[in-house]
Amino acid sequence: MNIETKFLHAGYEPKNGEPRQLPIYQSTTWKYASSDDMGKLFDLEASGYFYTRLQNPTNDMVAAKLAALEGGVAAMLTSSGQAANFFALFNICETGSHIVASSAIYGGTYNLLGVTMKKMGIDVTFVDQDLPEEELAKAFRPNTRALFGETITNPTVTVLDIEKFARLAHSHGVPLIVDNTFATPANCRPIEFGADIVTHSTTKYMDGHAISVGGAIIDSGNFDWMAHADMYPGLTTPDESYHGLVYAEKFGKLGYITKATSQLMRDLGSIQSPQNAFYLNNGLESLHVRMNRHCENAKKVAEFLSKQDKVAWIHYPDLEGDKYNELSKKYLPNGSCGVMAFAVKGGRDKAIRFMDSLKLATIATHVADARTCLLHPASHTHRQLSDQQLLEAGIAPDLIRLSVGLENADDLIADLKQALEQI
Ligand SMILES: *Cc1c(COP(=O)(O)O)cnc(C)c1O
Repeated sequence: MNIETKFLHAGYEPKNGEPRQLPIYQSTTWKYASSDDMGKLFDLEASGYFYTRLQNPTNDMVAAKLAALEGGVAAMLTSSGQAANFFALFNICETGSHIVASSAIYGGTYNLLGVTMKKMGIDVTFVDQDLPEEELAKAFRPNTRALFGETITNPTVTVLDIEKFARLAHSHGVPLIVDNTFATPANCRPIEFGADIVTHSTTKYMDGHAISVGGAIIDSGNFDWMAHADMYPGLTTPDESYHGLVYAEKFGKLGYITKATSQLMRDLGSIQSPQNAFYLNNGLESLHVRMNRHCENAKKVAEFLSKQDKVAWIHYPDLEGDKYNELSKKYLPNGSCGVMAFAVKGGRDKAIRFMDSLKLATIATHVADARTCLLHPASHTHRQLSDQQLLEAGIAPDLIRLSVGLENADDLIADLKQALEQI
């Protein structure tokens, strides 16, 4: 199947007389005839459902679609993108481990690594992802267990050189984890460029309509945990809470996702509700069509903004001459996404005046959905930070993040034009 077809058909193939649309298994529990049948499930001796905190058929069918879309061997859904990134890392890290991550990643993930995981004794080094390989290699330590980046960063919309990151990770014996939220598998499949594990906030384009929070992890099955057995004891030594089974041995390429499901989800409980998985699947059915339109609209809007005197600067990877245009052409040949970053001249006050003058584009703490929205991190998500702290986080104090939706591009441009006239 080509990817467009997979968006509609992968993961669930109804048999004769079964529902055409993905059924929602709105049940926490499953019934078994004998205690022996149930016991085998708890020992991971047989596969089957017993409690929705660990697995649910609706979620599994959507996860199977995501695995097919990203080119992975297995996937799981989580309650949010935050949970996805946490599980993806914590599945292979423990107290004393170290992670190397791009400093340009989403603020929520930056805090997850720099604040909360640090409290668990997991250290992080943030790096400038644009540095040459030799420079980046200096960030690795003997206890490094993963390299982390985003295909397109939020909110600075820089494009990651995935092959460079994959080489770096693999030459240090660790997997590359890529958050592919903004690109989506419609526009980029990081596994094809060497990423080992892909994560998503499905809350964004995948859901597409700003209705449900969710996340996902997809494993390529390519990373050989047994070849680095001493580094990943969680996968390569016995799990006493399952009578001593060894995930990477017993489940092979499925070991990573099996561990995340049967151990982390069991203990940390961050499952996506089957109802939300159903909404997610609805979003996925049109994702490839929507991404085309998001990119088409964003390009028109970015070209308009780039020609305005009152616009101080603009970053959109699909614009000719953008710093990331070459990387975008390589990794995102069909277009990047609908998000761009720009600034109006005159600083914070003018930025606020401009945004308050918009009539169609709305100010929202959201990004990547059907309706155009925008946010000024310095006044909103990051308002507790000084200009100096913003710059340290890589966010210009005048940066406006604009997420171009599916409206008619001329209407959006007319709205931006009249708001620019107000400043
Ligand atoms: C929003 C976002 C997240 C966090 O996802 P939630 O679903 O809000 O928890 C992670 N990564 C990126 C790139 C995001 O944009």
